[in-house]
Amino acid sequence: MQTQSEYGYNSKVEGDVVLTTVDAALAWFRKNSVWPMPMGLACCAIELMAAGASRFDISRFGSEVMRFSPRQADCMIVAGTVTYKSAGFLKRIYDQMAEPKWVIAMGACASTGGMYRSYAVLQGVDKIVPVDVYIGGCPPRPEAVLDALMKIQKKIGTQPILRKTVLANALKLND
Ligand code: SF4
Repeated sequence: MQTQSEYGYNSKVEGDVVLTTVDAALAWFRKNSVWPMPMGLACCAIELMAAGASRFDISRFGSEVMRFSPRQADCMIVAGTVTYKSAGFLKRIYDQMAEPKWVIAMGACASTGGMYRSYAVLQGVDKIVPVDVYIGGCPPRPEAVLDALMKIQKKIGTQPILRKTVLANALKLND
């Protein structure tokens, strides 16, 4: 049975040539170098730290480079309870991150407010930033963080980068 792939490899071709599309190559580079912005706000952050440790080894996915500057990060991982007090700076940091960017809501608190049905707690970080992947649990295990990361990678792999850029430039020229 013939299967469809983004990559074509024929060992009979001299020089071991791999054929692909520019979009697939760019997506491959991008999805294997997602740099997280660790937004550790409560206990879930401990599990996030564990995901970066040797036992789980987030660097297998190219995401060990945790950046504490929004200018160098493209995936915000919201790990913990988002209070109204912290919601303002979380949103500001998200806004400072360059496009394209993604958000993971890690744990019950970040996803829904969790058990804190209180006047001080935001009932889900998706009230202020767009969330791409939610992780259930209180706290979720580090493997769940890696699973969320793989879902982000899958999402990036389906986004047409070149076509989008050409279209955006064409629209700009028409303005
Ligand atoms: S989901 Fe549980 S472990 Fe995570 S921040 Fe909330 S209370 Fe802490």
